[in-house]
Amino acid sequence: MEMKCRDVGFNCDFVAKGNSEQEIMQQAAAHAQRDHGMKPEEITEDLQNKIRANIH
Ligand SMILES: [Zn+2]
Repeated sequence: MEMKCRDVGFNCDFVAKGNSEQEIMQQAAAHAQRDHGMKPEEITEDLQNKIRANIH
């Protein structure tokens, strides 16, 4: 499974890859904090839903 950061609306080439939705979500959260300078509380329910919708 993978999720492109760009599909979520960021101008970014990061692609999270994993074997489960949970793995992708963990990578996406770590990436958002490390590379987009987001705080954990900025990863809202809305954003999580958007990420989930873009996992293929
Ligand atoms: Zn990104």
